Amino acid sequence: MSSKAKILLIYTGGTIGMSKDFETGALKAFNFSKLLQKIPELKQLDCEIETVSFENPIDSSNMNPEMWTKIAAIIEENYISFDGFVVLHGSDTMSYSASALSFMLENLAKPVVFTGSQLPIGDLRTDAKENLITAIQIASLQENGKPVIHEVCLYFEYKLYRGNRTSKVNAEHFRAFTAPNYPELVESGVHLTLNSHLFLPIKNDAKLIVHKNLDNHVAIIKMFPGMSEIVLASILSTQGLRGIVLETYGSGNAPTEDWFLNLIKKALESGLHIVNVTQCSGGSVNMGQYETSTALKSLGVISGKDITTEAAITKLMYLLGHNIPKNEFKDIFETSLRGEIS
Ligand code: ASP
Repeated sequence: MSSKAKILLIYTGGTIGMSKDFETGALKAFNFSKLLQKIPELKQLDCEIETVSFENPIDSSNMNPEMWTKIAAIIEENYISFDGFVVLHGSDTMSYSASALSFMLENLAKPVVFTGSQLPIGDLRTDAKENLITAIQIASLQENGKPVIHEVCLYFEYKLYRGNRTSKVNAEHFRAFTAPNYPELVESGVHLTLNSHLFLPIKNDAKLIVHKNLDNHVAIIKMFPGMSEIVLASILSTQGLRGIVLETYGSGNAPTEDWFLNLIKKALESGLHIVNVTQCSGGSVNMGQYETSTALKSLGVISGKDITTEAAITKLMYLLGHNIPKNEFKDIFETSLRGEIS
């Protein structure tokens, strides 16, 4: 029996597998088998690679919970037969997908590494090759025949991050992602430097549970000076809405005007879950630090602490997909489930 790690490459779409339409100049997805032809170096890796592709690869702007379920189902079906999974995905919504999958895959004992690229694989200056090759190499790391990493990660431009800690921060640079509130798990240089003390611990003997029920009756509201009562009231009264992520200022601050606090109070009383996250790219919500967040705290707004917006909205969908009693929801949200919150 071969002792080589078996890696399943799951192609969902994105620039990494796109080609240029020479008439319009626009990038569009092409047949996945051509992707492997473009990287013969993959054969040199010390692992066995199999591939599976979305029937219709997408630009990740078209990603949605249904497709997250599809990715989770592919991992579930192949979980026993493979040692690790690499998900090729457009960078635009990769942090949302990595966050969603981290919640959907409970008790993960194998690596699921998301990666993609800023330039198509066929481009002379592409970043796709390095990203793909190192992502596969990391996914195949083993110790005593067991995977070294057991969480959903994101690899881009020499760094492996915890997936649910990342945000896309640049539309042009190869260094397109950061994880502002959690250090990188692995850094790729001449050697791979593993920061093993930062990895999620493995739950011994716990079986993988795949959660496929996500509720997308949610919204993200970004505060800005000048937001009007009529706009906020109309969003909060959206039929069927069950939860919102409120992107506030600084350490979780928001207006103290009566109209604003009354709308928040009414929404909470009607059963809506409101999560306070900061619109700063790093740092944490700390309700009560300033007068401008004290009222939110006493009204019962959930603290997102140092969670990213991407992880907050997907965690909301995940928790709303479970029938969690109203009085437990806040505590559960404020607890780290997959290392998404400090
Ligand atoms: N628009 C592309 C996508 O997210 C960009 C990329 O692949 O990086 O699918």
